[in-house]
Amino acid sequence: MSDILETAIEAPLPLSLLAAQPADALLGLIALHRADTRPGKIDVGVGVFRDDAGRTPVMRAVKAAEALLFETQHSKSYLGAEGDTGYTELLGRTVFGALASSERITGVQTPGGTGALRLGAELLARANSEAVVWIGTPTWPNHGPIFAEAGLATRTHRFFDPASASIDFDAMMTDLGEARPGDILLLHGCCHNPTGAGLTAAQWASIAALCDARGLLPFIDLAYQGLGDGLEEDAATTRMIFDRLPTAILAYSCDKNFGLYRERVGALWVQAASAPITERARANMLSLARSIWSMPPDHGAAVVRVILENSALRAEWEAELDAMRSRINALRAALGAAHPALAPIAGQRGMFAMLPITPEAVVDLRESHGIYMAGNGRINIAGLTRETVPAFVAALAPHL
Ligand code: PMP
Repeated sequence: MSDILETAIEAPLPLSLLAAQPADALLGLIALHRADTRPGKIDVGVGVFRDDAGRTPVMRAVKAAEALLFETQHSKSYLGAEGDTGYTELLGRTVFGALASSERITGVQTPGGTGALRLGAELLARANSEAVVWIGTPTWPNHGPIFAEAGLATRTHRFFDPASASIDFDAMMTDLGEARPGDILLLHGCCHNPTGAGLTAAQWASIAALCDARGLLPFIDLAYQGLGDGLEEDAATTRMIFDRLPTAILAYSCDKNFGLYRERVGALWVQAASAPITERARANMLSLARSIWSMPPDHGAAVVRVILENSALRAEWEAELDAMRSRINALRAALGAAHPALAPIAGQRGMFAMLPITPEAVVDLRESHGIYMAGNGRINIAGLTRETVPAFVAALAPHL
């Protein structure tokens, strides 16, 4: 009887048939860290920037821009599916430099880098549902699901070799030998998450040549501009790819380099072979955006626009970003010098690195030393301070 009842109740929407979903591992880690009362505990799990005091502050330039907006914004009326066009225009110059004026490049504001990736994935699925998206391993765990949920097939190629703590470029190129014309190659524009490992300029040139020769579409994810080697330096790869290839896509996030995480600030840029095709792509980006979120949230992008259009605020933001980057790179140097097995970390860039340790060691570090990190050994470098590096390395050393 109860079975029949359940069936009858569930029939219109069999929610009970949905697959169980794993809990978000990093959120679980936050709860464990919060509950830990040990004074020397260290959180290198969650992927946000932290200052020397362990805080993730609102940047001064952001506070000032918010104050300006409070005074000068007189309407919250709708903008449109493209969001704040002043934001996209000014940010485009920061990202693309001289290429920004190209009629073949078009951009729209999105809810974060995640929204940009998803909108890009939907555009690809609409244009060519047969395309396969090639993703290097390991990568940010959301990459695969974003493309898969848009209906695209994904395949992985080798990228980072944990044993040598370096990129296995030959293996990457071998695997990509199976990619077919029209396939998509997802690339981290700078500051690879989770490994911090970067390709050389010569390797990037080989990737551009491969895309060109085999008709692959580069899809760059740039979520950390300015947090690696500098604003200009971190954009160099993106500019080279857009310069060399007729068609390319860029998903961008301002959530790290402006510290705007929860405001959800991003943009999607598409370059097509001619201005009319670019216009067609833009119309499709807008129609897709309308059916997903209609319009992106305004506040964070308005803050970025105010900063970029005001030279004093821009200078302040760049100085703050420089300080964030210097802090991360000083910690990288300290870690690299502290133990031979950590030496590669000094030469890597961005907030993340993969420790060459086992999942059991990750658990031991948490339980015995109050050190919290992702299960795969990824650490957020910014979760450390000059003072905590020695204790961190001492706890780690037996596992290296
Ligand atoms: N790409 C990468 C590589 C990331 O690490 C992240 C954020 N962790 C994103 C995209 C998404 O950024 P956002 O928070 O702006 O959605």
